[in-house]
Amino acid sequence: MVMKKTSFIGSIFANKCPRCRKGKLFKNDRPYELRNVLDMHDYCPVCGQRTELEIGFWYGTGYVSYVLAVLFSIFNLIWYWLIFGITWRDNSIFYWLAINGIILMLSMPLLMRLSRTLYLTFYIGHDPEAEHRRQQRKTDNIVKPL
Ligand SMILES: [Zn+2]
Repeated sequence: MVMKKTSFIGSIFANKCPRCRKGKLFKNDRPYELRNVLDMHDYCPVCGQRTELEIGFWYGTGYVSYVLAVLFSIFNLIWYWLIFGITWRDNSIFYWLAINGIILMLSMPLLMRLSRTLYLTFYIGHDPEAEHRRQQRKTDNIVKPL
C-alpha cells in the first residue's frame, strides 16, 4: 500500500490530526457552511486521538486566532503597500483598513479552523505509528478473548 506522506505545514493547512496527519479534524470539508464550521470529530477517525483534550480546551484558540489575524493583516498591509502604495497624504490607509477588514471577515471560517488545528498541534506531537497501533489494538481485541 502506498502511503502518501503529509508534511507538517501541509497537514496544518489541511486541518489534519496532528498525531497521524491523516485523519480529518472537522466533520465537514466545507468551512463556509457556517452552521457547522467548528463541528469536529471527538476522536480522530484514523488514529483515535482525542480532539478536545479537556473541557473548555478550545477557549485557548482565541489567542491563536488573534495572532493569526494580526499576522494576516501585516501580510495584507505589505502587498497592499507594494501594489497600491500607502501615504499619509490621502485616504489610502483607510482604504487598506476597509479592505483588510473585508478580507479578514471573509477568511474567518478558515482562520477559526486553522487556529484550532494549530492549537491542538501545540499539544500533540506527530506519531507516524499511531494509525498502525490503533489497527493492532482493534485486531488484538477481536482475536484474544478476555
Ligand atoms: Zn489521527
